[in-house]
Amino acid sequence: MRWAGYAGAMKTLADQLDNSFYQRFNSATPALLSAVQPAPLTNPRWGHRNLDLMAELGIDPAAPGLLELLAGSRAPSPLTPYAAVYSGHQFGHWAGQLGDGRALTLGELNGADGGCWELQLKGAGPTPYSRFADGRAVLRSSIREYLCSEAMHGLGIPTTRALSLVDSDSPVQRERVERGAVVCRLARSFIRFGHFEHFHYAGQAQTVATLADYLIEQHFPDWLALPAEQRHLQLFANTVTATATTIAAWQAVGFAHGVLNTDNMSLLGDTLDYGPFGFLDSYQPGFICNHSDSGGRYAFNKQPMIGLWNLNALANAFLSLLPSELLVEQLGSYQQQFEAAYRARMTAKLGLPAAADAQQLDAVLQPLLALLAEGGADYTRFFRRLALFGSDQEPALAAEVGEPWQQQAWQQWRSSYTAALTEQPADADQRQLSMLAVNPKYILRNYLAEQAIQAAEAGDYGQLERLFAVLKQPYAEQPEYDKLAALPPAWAAAISISCSS
Ligand code: AMP
Ligand code: MG
Repeated sequence: MRWAGYAGAMKTLADQLDNSFYQRFNSATPALLSAVQPAPLTNPRWGHRNLDLMAELGIDPAAPGLLELLAGSRAPSPLTPYAAVYSGHQFGHWAGQLGDGRALTLGELNGADGGCWELQLKGAGPTPYSRFADGRAVLRSSIREYLCSEAMHGLGIPTTRALSLVDSDSPVQRERVERGAVVCRLARSFIRFGHFEHFHYAGQAQTVATLADYLIEQHFPDWLALPAEQRHLQLFANTVTATATTIAAWQAVGFAHGVLNTDNMSLLGDTLDYGPFGFLDSYQPGFICNHSDSGGRYAFNKQPMIGLWNLNALANAFLSLLPSELLVEQLGSYQQQFEAAYRARMTAKLGLPAAADAQQLDAVLQPLLALLAEGGADYTRFFRRLALFGSDQEPALAAEVGEPWQQQAWQQWRSSYTAALTEQPADADQRQLSMLAVNPKYILRNYLAEQAIQAAEAGDYGQLERLFAVLKQPYAEQPEYDKLAALPPAWAAAISISCSS
């Protein structure tokens, strides 16, 4: 009976899944992808299902066989799951061939919204690109990826999505033995800068062009009519813009990715590969979230510059498609595009009129960031409470800063902020509402993820469930969950997040 039910569900899902990427690149030489069968976990079971996303995509969460499919217990016959090869620059050095070492793509799904999603299982066993590793992902890191991708989506930041989390009894050796898990994650495309680098440095200009044209067909069909050089230039320009605007969104919300290697960079600018990421607690511009990043290459305030470094690596991989002058010209526009996007976000966070120019913004923002860095106020909580400025609830804002609020430097800032707000007076209630809509109350602080992980490891998914639901609406007040917006407890300082996953 179980088998019959499973086969029925397979048909439903296979009806929805397509595999155009596989068909296009199956015979590329040298190979871009390898057919891979998932390796089953022991006693797989749902850790969590993203019911809203399943509903959006028309997936029945109770369909027989769904667990088996999303756990990697069985292949999505008749489709061929595959892993793709890529290369990349890691921590500034050419790392050579990498690839989907623990990810395999099931196929593509057309969402009800007209969008197309690639479905990938992470942790479903080894692939030809696993090198010396086991192809697995532990529950701890899977929960972090699962929660953070949906938290980022809730914040309105371009990102891969998470559809499901499967727990198991498979032992996986890291610093200690942990349980293996599989996340089903979705991307508009999993094509990375590293895919282009791989084929460029292998001397395969034809595959570089095919990859570019595949992306254009899938995501920018209007450009297909353009001559090759023009459409490839559009693609590169779009990646420059998307990278600049996504990183601007990270900086505004206080998100540090942690491992901005070129193999973790999406051509579409979506946040990809959640590992040792971190959100700022107190405002420290040089915050390093990844314990393995001893040199601080990927510190919070380095991210905008690293975005350009990575785009430069991508530009090199585009040299067979475009003259270098055109690539350099696009790279030259990055800084200005980043600044414009960052300024727009910070202007809104501060509740300043959208028409405020760079000088007006900087006059308020730069001294504020300096004061926050000096005083160690919590970044998220300060901006959330900034909506109270000038109201009878302002003491709650002052409390975030503490005693320094009374000092001259803060009082000076208060005066300049008051002046900036009154220069083009808007309705105070309206300003408050618009500020609350862009300054989140809830972010995925490390300690919250850690609590959800510890409970899940002990078999209790209640905390994860609650956190997941709250982080979906980070700008909503949700007063019953105030505790999840609290300052981190003292023990949080000892949490160390490394590349181990
Ligand atoms: P990351 O730092 O997670 O982006 O991974 C860098 C590279 O190592 C990618 O090619 C991954 O697929 C690969 N990798 C990481 N962990 C594993 C693992 N447990 N098994 C196989 N490959 C892995
Ligand atoms: Mg990666």
